[in-house]
Amino acid sequence: MTVDASSIASSPALAGSTEPMDTAAAYRAPGRASSSPRLISQTATGRLNRVRLLQLLYDVGPASRAELARLAEVTKTTIGSIVQPMIDAGILVEREPRQSSVFGGKPARPIWLSPLGRPIVAVHVGPGSVRAALVSLTGTIRSHSSARFSGTRSSQRSIIDTIAACVEDVLPGNEKPLGVGVAVGGMVDTDRGHIVAVNLAPRLSGLALGPLLSRRLGLPVQLDLHPRVQALGDRWFGLGRGVSSFASVYCGEAIGAEFVIDGTVHRGASGAGGEVGHTVVDLGGAVCRCGRRGCWETIATHTWLRQAAAAAQLPGARSLTAGGLLALAEAGSKDADELLNRYARNIAVGLVNLQQTLAPDLFILHGDIVQAGEVFRALIEQAVYSGIAPRPGGEPEIIFAKPEDDMALLGAAGLVLSESLDQLA
Ligand SMILES: [Zn+2]
Repeated sequence: MTVDASSIASSPALAGSTEPMDTAAAYRAPGRASSSPRLISQTATGRLNRVRLLQLLYDVGPASRAELARLAEVTKTTIGSIVQPMIDAGILVEREPRQSSVFGGKPARPIWLSPLGRPIVAVHVGPGSVRAALVSLTGTIRSHSSARFSGTRSSQRSIIDTIAACVEDVLPGNEKPLGVGVAVGGMVDTDRGHIVAVNLAPRLSGLALGPLLSRRLGLPVQLDLHPRVQALGDRWFGLGRGVSSFASVYCGEAIGAEFVIDGTVHRGASGAGGEVGHTVVDLGGAVCRCGRRGCWETIATHTWLRQAAAAAQLPGARSLTAGGLLALAEAGSKDADELLNRYARNIAVGLVNLQQTLAPDLFILHGDIVQAGEVFRALIEQAVYSGIAPRPGGEPEIIFAKPEDDMALLGAAGLVLSESLDQLA
C-alpha cells in the first residue's frame, strides 16, 4: 500500500451526488448515521465537500486552488465555492502568495488551516483517567491537562467533576472553542452522547457524559468510541494521511479497532462496532470481563500479559507492558523472550481475523505495545503473515503509530471540526 497522495486521485476527492457516508458523515447527528439516504441533498453535498476538502488539505498540506482542483478532479470554480465559506468562517486562510515560476503567471496563494481559527477542546476518557487538550485547527496541541478518578469507586458526580475540571484547565480565557470532542475507552451511544459500558470501570457505565459536560461547559460536545476517534486522527493527522483504507487498532489494557474504508470511518448504528476485543478466538478459553468465554482480550491485554509473566516468575510482572518485557528478553531472559513471542502471536490472531474479514491491507497499531519497537512489530508481522490464507495482492502492512503521536486527542478534535462544518452555508 502506498502512503501518498496518489491514492486520493484514484477516487474523486470531492462529491457530486454519490457516497453519502464519509469520514465526517459517519459522525452525524442522531438517527442519520444508521441508514444512508438514497440520494444526497444539496446541503449535504456541500458539507461532504467541505469535509473532503479539509481531508485533502491535511493529506497534501497548503495548496493553491488550482492544485486542489487538479487533485480533486473538479474545476477551480468548484474549489472556490467550497473554500470561500470556510475562509469566511475563519477555518481556512489564504497564505502569502508564492513566487511565480520562471514561466511567469499570477503567483498562487496557498490555502491552509487558519492558525488563528477557533481552537477545539479534545478529551480522552479512559477507565481511570482523563486527558484534555486545546488543539488548534492545524492539529497543534496548545495546552494539555490530565487527572485520575476511580472507575470502580468514584461516584458519577465526582467523575463528571474531575472530567469537567480537567477540561476547564485547558479552556482559553479569551476565545470560545468550536466545541469539545471526547474519545471514550468503552462502549458508547453516540446518538445520546452516553457511555453504555466500560468493563474496566463500571462507574462510567450509563454515564450521560455528553449532555452533562455540554451543560456544564456551555459548549457543544461530540462523543465517540476511542478506536474510532483514533482512526479519524490517523486519517487526518497521522500515518493514515492519504491512505483510503486501513485499520486503526489499539492494544493495551483493552483491545479495539476501527476501519477506514474508501476514506470513510466505519460506524455502526448509534456508534456500535469496533469492539473487536470481544470477538471470540477460543471457544474453550478463559472467561472474559464481558462475561463471554475466549474473547481476544483474554489472550492479548495487560491482564493476560501480567498473569502470564507472574506464572513465569518474571520481575515486575504486576505492572509489565510490552516495552518492559522486551527489555527483560534483551537482558537474556529466555522466559521473557518466549512470552514476548506468545504476546505477538496472540495479537496476530485477532489481526488475521480482521484481515480475513475486511482486508484493510494496512494496520496502524497503537497503545503501549509500540514502546517495544521494531523487534515486536516484526514478530507480530511474522505471525500475521503465517496466519493468513494465501491470496493475490500481497501481504498486509503492519505499522506502529509513532509513540509521540496522540491520535485519540487529535481525532477528537477532528470529530468537532467535521461537525462544525454543518453550521456553514
Ligand atoms: Zn469479552
